[in-house]
Amino acid sequence: MIGDDEARSGLPSGVSSYYASLACTRDPYADPVAAQFMPRDEELVSLPYETRDPIGDERYRVCARVIHHYRDRILILANDRCATYCRHCFRRHFTAHSTGRITQAEVREAAAYVAEHPECREALISGGDPLMLPDEHLDFLLRALRDARGDLILRLATRMPVVQPSRITTETAAMLGSYAPLWAVIQTNHPREITPDFGRAVGLLVNNGIPVLNQAVLLRGVNDDADTLEALMRGLVQCRVKPYYLFQGDLASGTSHFRTTIDEGLALMAELRKRLTGIAVPTYAVDLPGGAGKVPLTEATVVRHEPQWYVLRDLDGNEHRYPREERRERG
Ligand SMILES: *Cc1c(COP(=O)(O)O)cnc(C)c1O
Repeated sequence: MIGDDEARSGLPSGVSSYYASLACTRDPYADPVAAQFMPRDEELVSLPYETRDPIGDERYRVCARVIHHYRDRILILANDRCATYCRHCFRRHFTAHSTGRITQAEVREAAAYVAEHPECREALISGGDPLMLPDEHLDFLLRALRDARGDLILRLATRMPVVQPSRITTETAAMLGSYAPLWAVIQTNHPREITPDFGRAVGLLVNNGIPVLNQAVLLRGVNDDADTLEALMRGLVQCRVKPYYLFQGDLASGTSHFRTTIDEGLALMAELRKRLTGIAVPTYAVDLPGGAGKVPLTEATVVRHEPQWYVLRDLDGNEHRYPREERRERG
């Protein structure tokens, strides 16, 4: 359903009936789930420093479907479709632009690329959502990559457990699991997305030997408070999903209403670190505008260097000394 909305904001609207059922639509603009799929007028506002390719994918495109930005890993754009179009999408230059599914020729091209580039040790399969492909098609892609490189780490980026958990069938999970080492990275942004269906879907992945990580996006009005983020991270760990990143909003066209300030993000992270077990704490990070890459955002804990000491700050802001030892040669 690409129509007026795409002309308006560069991104079609579309939501799975499952995900729509999680929303309370009485006041959709105040609802943390509805806000992620309901287009709103603010999307028409594009700031001068916002673009449709905020992280600079195009600069690093090495063949039709392959982005090689970081030396040891490539990103494969397997499909441009999603089961739900997130209003905060940062890959608006690609998503739903009729590029469609990766072709067999493009799969062979990507496989040849990893075969010729041994420095590349991992392939992220993303889009769009790669699980919008039928299992046979995804199986063909994974088989080609695995045949090209037995040692390749595969990473599947999908929002299906959140927006359409029924897509993760026993057969799909077993097929994915047969390509180990294969990791899955999902995007859960609000505790209400952690339903029994979600738990079953990620449980199937984990039980098939697929470690599952979560990348949340910090979104104003959706999850920009410590209680919500705490509940989200706890719920994920309960489902055996490791919180991996919490992303500062990218400078994608028409998304300024979703962005918090970095100062707000840092304060939320400080609060999470106090409240949560270490395994539930994600890395707060930003993808630098224009393609300079991902960097973690941290409040400096090394406050200053003294001749004999590092001065470190604890979570309550108190300073502590840690010795600056002589560097010893290994014996
Ligand atoms: C984010 C990203 C990756 C993965 O980065 P990690 O820090 O390993 O999660 C790889 N390639 C591209 C182009 C990316 O944008």
